[in-house]
Amino acid sequence: DNFTAKSLGDKKEKTLAMIKPDAVDKMGLILDMINQKGLLVTKAKMVLLSRAEAAQFYIEHQSKPFFNGLLDYVTAGPVVAMELMGSNAIQAWRDLIGPTNPSDARSQNAQSLRAKYGTDNTRNAAHGSDSKESAMREAEFFFPSTGPARANTAQFTNCTCCV
Ligand code: UDP
Repeated sequence: DNFTAKSLGDKKEKTLAMIKPDAVDKMGLILDMINQKGLLVTKAKMVLLSRAEAAQFYIEHQSKPFFNGLLDYVTAGPVVAMELMGSNAIQAWRDLIGPTNPSDARSQNAQSLRAKYGTDNTRNAAHGSDSKESAMREAEFFFPSTGPARANTAQFTNCTCCV
């Protein structure tokens, strides 16, 4: 077990993973990949983003030529957002998904998520935070810590493996 209390130490890094609409039907296989990598899913939700929400999430790309196409894609159906925790979780998840362009992903490592489930430079199956700062901002975007208490919301924070 990677997550016993005494071995946690450096394993508490968190990242934000988002499974994009056309890969949501691969969630079972993707969860297997996450488990194999030794990452723990500490929060998860499925959500249909509005265009304004998607624009907020991808605000750093608002001036890019691909911005509108990216918003079309990530609002085309529900996404699954997950907070993942583990040793070097940010890099571990980026490694698991592979490079932005699925054709690059396929030439580098055919087992990566984008190699297996990505289609093109926009429709690339998954998102992963690229730094601690973006991980915090993006986790807060999907799983806000402030505001009124929400019903039916499970938090993983009190389990014996994560305290
Ligand atoms: N994207 C795109 N065209 C590009 C580059 C990126 O449509 O030329 C999309 C793609 O879905 C990518 C997202 O915009 O995942 C964010 O781009 P970024 O460069 O941050 O890549 P990532 O960090 O997701 O690999």
